[in-house]
Amino acid sequence: MGPLPPLVRPRRASLSQARDRAIIGEMAVASMVRAYFDNNANTPVLPEILEDMLPALQGAVGNASSIHQLGQAAKAAVEQARAAVAELIGASPTEVVFTSGGTESDNLAIRGVVGEWRRRNASAPLPHLITSKIEHHAVLNVFEDLERAGYPVTYLPVNDGGRVGPAELAAALRPDTALISVMMANNETGVVQPVEELGAIARAAKVAFHVDAVQAVGRTPVRVKEIGSDLLSLSGHKIHASMGIGALYVGRRTQLRAQQLGGHHERDRRAGTENVPGIMSLGAAAKLAQANGAAEAARLAELRDRMEAGLVAAIPDCGVVGAGQPRVANTSNMYFDGIEGEALVIALDLHGFCVSTGAACSSGAIEPSHVLLAMGMSRRRARSCLRFSLGRQNTADEVERLLQTLPGLVERLRRLAPADASALVRSA
Ligand code: PLP
Repeated sequence: MGPLPPLVRPRRASLSQARDRAIIGEMAVASMVRAYFDNNANTPVLPEILEDMLPALQGAVGNASSIHQLGQAAKAAVEQARAAVAELIGASPTEVVFTSGGTESDNLAIRGVVGEWRRRNASAPLPHLITSKIEHHAVLNVFEDLERAGYPVTYLPVNDGGRVGPAELAAALRPDTALISVMMANNETGVVQPVEELGAIARAAKVAFHVDAVQAVGRTPVRVKEIGSDLLSLSGHKIHASMGIGALYVGRRTQLRAQQLGGHHERDRRAGTENVPGIMSLGAAAKLAQANGAAEAARLAELRDRMEAGLVAAIPDCGVVGAGQPRVANTSNMYFDGIEGEALVIALDLHGFCVSTGAACSSGAIEPSHVLLAMGMSRRRARSCLRFSLGRQNTADEVERLLQTLPGLVERLRRLAPADASALVRSA
């Protein structure tokens, strides 16, 4: 490999710079086969799933509320998909509400429970709410908004492996707690939370329990009754269905106030014309996950283990975040001391690999991931982390290509870095 192109420097990238580089990278890898390791951000729609949803985009179905035949065809397709999603998570079809994705499911779950609690207890003080520090922003930002509105909120800590402790939840409960929301698999680390133990605590305290399972469904068994969840969010574009579709499991006895008003869709829990093509794709993805999700998880675990072992063996001062913890098979978060994660993302992009960092851009500055900081990681190490997330389309060959490419890039970026990597490790 020749020297790194001048655009790739281990300094912080602004978003517009990153966009420019993406365009340049696109040209550079035009003749290369791109390996997509960013399936926690979005999964490609698989050909067999596209085939299932295509008729709905081409006029084979109408509006699911219409009485005529095309309307009834749409309704039948929606109900078939509902049954498939329900089966995948061990619910009954009437407990599945289709939404526009994970963010809406999370918002509906949290605001819906809180809204209904308020309607029934209009003169009571605002109730106490519990979530964790490592939630996705689709959950965290809702709680922060509720906090600004006066609700007392407890944000549970995690240990250095990235897990919420059941003892911490039990200690945080108050007589006025109305809702607990903890995710199942973390989107950045893949670490799986002890949701069954948390659910048992919630049930004993008679507090509604919401689980954001957006990164867990289709990747590890998710059974709502075993978890003891009252609400559970999932999203289509994480399991090879299309973007803009998701679902919320709402247990039969869960009291939920609709957040979007209009027609009587989704049994009055979510108004709006159903996204029939999206719903059909989600149904097809649920069937696929049900049919061979376990075999696929075993295949991805093998790829991930090969990738992690190969990188750790070839690159000094790198390691796996959440190693030794229960993790979903497809997700690997690794630190590369002495490097800015964004620089490595861009360098990999130019070599035909799509990966991401967990860092977020806030007020124009790249902030290290709140998840990694909550695990007690230093800001410097957190900024060096990359997330590799695998999907059904990934192959062993792609992993081997990554193993051939990444060590050289890390070495070059470290050489260009202003400080000596081992000094950074000592202070990490
Ligand atoms: N929750 C988790 C854990 C996620 O990872 C994501 C998206 O990455 C969401 C919620 C939001 O889902 P969506 O992109 O479908 O709105």
